[in-house]
Amino acid sequence: MKDYEMVIGLEVHCELSTESKIFCGCTTKFGGAPNTHVCEVCSGMPGTLPTLNKQVVEFAVKAGLALNCDITRNNKFDRKNYFYPDLPKAYQISQLYCPICRNGHVDIKTSNGTKSIGIHEIHMEEDAGKLVHDEATGMTRVDFNRCGVPLLEIVSEPDFRSAEEVIAYLTKIRDTMQYLGVSDCKMQEGSMRADVNLSVRPRGQEEFGTRTEMKNIASFKAIERAIEYECERQIDLIEGGGKVVQETRRWDDEKEYTYAMRSKEDAQDYKYFPDPDLMPVVISEEYLESIKAILPEFADAKRERYVSELGLTEYDADIITGNVTLVKVFETSGAKCGNYKDAANWILTDLLKLYKDEGVTPEDKEFDGDKLGTIITMVNDGKINRKSGKKILTAVFEEDVDPQEYADKNGLAQVSDASAIEPAIKKVIESNEKAVSEYLAGNEKNIQFLIGQSMRELRGKADPKTVKDILEKLLSEMK
Ligand code: ADP
Ligand code: MG
Ligand code: ZN
Repeated sequence: MKDYEMVIGLEVHCELSTESKIFCGCTTKFGGAPNTHVCEVCSGMPGTLPTLNKQVVEFAVKAGLALNCDITRNNKFDRKNYFYPDLPKAYQISQLYCPICRNGHVDIKTSNGTKSIGIHEIHMEEDAGKLVHDEATGMTRVDFNRCGVPLLEIVSEPDFRSAEEVIAYLTKIRDTMQYLGVSDCKMQEGSMRADVNLSVRPRGQEEFGTRTEMKNIASFKAIERAIEYECERQIDLIEGGGKVVQETRRWDDEKEYTYAMRSKEDAQDYKYFPDPDLMPVVISEEYLESIKAILPEFADAKRERYVSELGLTEYDADIITGNVTLVKVFETSGAKCGNYKDAANWILTDLLKLYKDEGVTPEDKEFDGDKLGTIITMVNDGKINRKSGKKILTAVFEEDVDPQEYADKNGLAQVSDASAIEPAIKKVIESNEKAVSEYLAGNEKNIQFLIGQSMRELRGKADPKTVKDILEKLLSEMK
């Protein structure tokens, strides 16, 4: 058997997290009772006109700049004509001839090192509705809530040669979109969807083989499995004397195989033409500069800075920057308490454990970094001990309490003022004559016992270090 190489190109759809839809004022919120997030425009009533949501353009430009694209200063919308029950206008407004971003690239890291993946283009378009098949009645219903939700379609060059590269790229795209705040990229909610175009060719052959397209695979794991399966299927087919047909195939994640869905259309099948209802989108130099100026710092740069400037280990920096929600908690709490290493410690040992125990992700349940900063400050200032700090952290995690109020209410404050601690320690010295005289005679180990007794007297609410200092001072006065 010949040695084959797989060639993959990806079309990734990201739903943008704008408040309203791309051409009308309806909400983009996920879910909702069927057909409650709709109006005349997004349900395709005749005579209605689209109005472009400016924020979609801003998000597209941000994404394009972050993915090293050229921004098309004069871009425009086209109609992609096809009939489908979840597309009430019978055309989708998209960009074919002049997409807003072109010629980008993304650098990915795999076990073979760094590789640059080309981005052919990014275009803006509207999402379609959803068909809901009801097994019980055998009927199909249509929900238009998702109609008109803005999408970016990011089309890569056929640069991938393994599933590992595909996953590294998707992870990077997702992180970038999340850092930009333009899409939450939740595969499980369908706000990030990937179509995988795959072909095989004998290694060494320059020409590409015929590709198939697998649409809307719903998780990274499934994408990996689908790629392995489809690659083998094509090789077997060719080795058996057959030919790969260009078609769209559906991946069945339960049965783990792909099956033909429809023969692949070409662009001309859609009779694209410029949408006469929308003006071209003109992007001025000033506008472009203003967007460049507000681009955030991305994961790679942050990781480096966390290590070189904030003193985190590479491992810790990697975990934090791998999740934009954790980044927020880290930067807010670190700034608040003035100690980033402590902030990282609290997040990685205590906070992540809370997430793990409850089986939720930081995005599912956002933690207020400001409150973490307050807790760390309280501990570092000796107002509470670490154990109480953890207790407060748990209470904030579970009920979003106010750390200071919670400490007061539950009597967690340490007695730090010497005038309150001294009497208790004096009492311990008086009632432990033997230990004290032994200590004064040179048995220094007894100090631990006396600290323990004092802590007990103070019901654990003092800073052990302060107790030790006062104890030593009082004992030295007795020498
Ligand atoms: P269409 O718009 O008809 O889906 P495109 O030519 O725009 O087709 O390509 C779609 C995707 O398929 C791109 O990501 C591209 O990189 C990829 N692709 C094109 N040819 C091949 C091939 N022979 N093998 C694998 N992927 C391919
Ligand atoms: Mg396509
Ligand atoms: Zn609407």
